[in-house]
Amino acid sequence: MSKLTDLVIVKPGSKLKLSSIDPDSDGGIKGKDAAAIKLQKNLDRLAVLQHLLYAENQRGVLIVLQGIDAGGKDGTIRNVMTGLNPQGCRVVSFKVPSELEKRHDYLWRVHKETPQTGEMVIFNRSHYEDVLVVRVHKLVPKQVWSRRYRAINDFERMLSDNGVKILKFFLYISKDEQKKRFEERIENPEKNWKFSQGDVEERKYWDDYAAAFEDAINTCSTSYAPWHVIPANRKWFRNLAVSSVIVEAMEEMKMHYPKPIADLSKIQFE
Ligand code: AMP
Ligand code: MG
Repeated sequence: MSKLTDLVIVKPGSKLKLSSIDPDSDGGIKGKDAAAIKLQKNLDRLAVLQHLLYAENQRGVLIVLQGIDAGGKDGTIRNVMTGLNPQGCRVVSFKVPSELEKRHDYLWRVHKETPQTGEMVIFNRSHYEDVLVVRVHKLVPKQVWSRRYRAINDFERMLSDNGVKILKFFLYISKDEQKKRFEERIENPEKNWKFSQGDVEERKYWDDYAAAFEDAINTCSTSYAPWHVIPANRKWFRNLAVSSVIVEAMEEMKMHYPKPIADLSKIQFE
């Protein structure tokens, strides 16, 4: 495991406290310029690995992005997934469940969107909302949400057993950084659309969200679907850390191009 992955991965059975993590951390990487070179290398490699995944067509990759509002989920997708071939890659955003979705169990809408063989899927929010926002706002009783961790672990294990590589990321920013980002959304006309009154309300529940994230991360970081807590105040570190973890995990999949279906040396054209 690389130093960077070791720094951000949550080992199964951990009792992680977010307060022990510095969202300002740069992982000891000396500055933005050095990180930009490393990021570009990762993106180049990621493009090759995605091509292998697509060609092999045996397994899938699922990337789960979670974070508090303004945590940088959209920016991570823009900066880290930029080199991927749209054929073989999909982003799925999970919003407040529709009327139809509400009539099903909470994993119904999620399972439908999991990767096919050869595909990379990025979840912008996910089934974890059902133990995060749902818990914080008491949308269902504790008795209901508290059982979900086990179901989520079982669900992810089943996906993993069926060839889906799952990597989960919690983008961790400080409360001050969130304020700065909200202020920017208010000041910059091009970012106004990203700000909602709901963001002001949600910020009041900061501590409740932190507790809910800690429980989800500690209970659901497994060998087959690990959580990574990414210090995300510095966007360049966030992008580098997320891309490094994905590249490393996909290298470990030891993918191969399929063998040619015919003896190519014997093929002749008219
Ligand atoms: P955004 O990602 O800013 O477009 O906002 C999507 C909103 O949908 C967030 O406020 C989420 O908390 C909310 N959301 C996503 N999934 C669920 C869920 N299962 N139950 C309730 N709210 C959800
Ligand atoms: Mg939002």
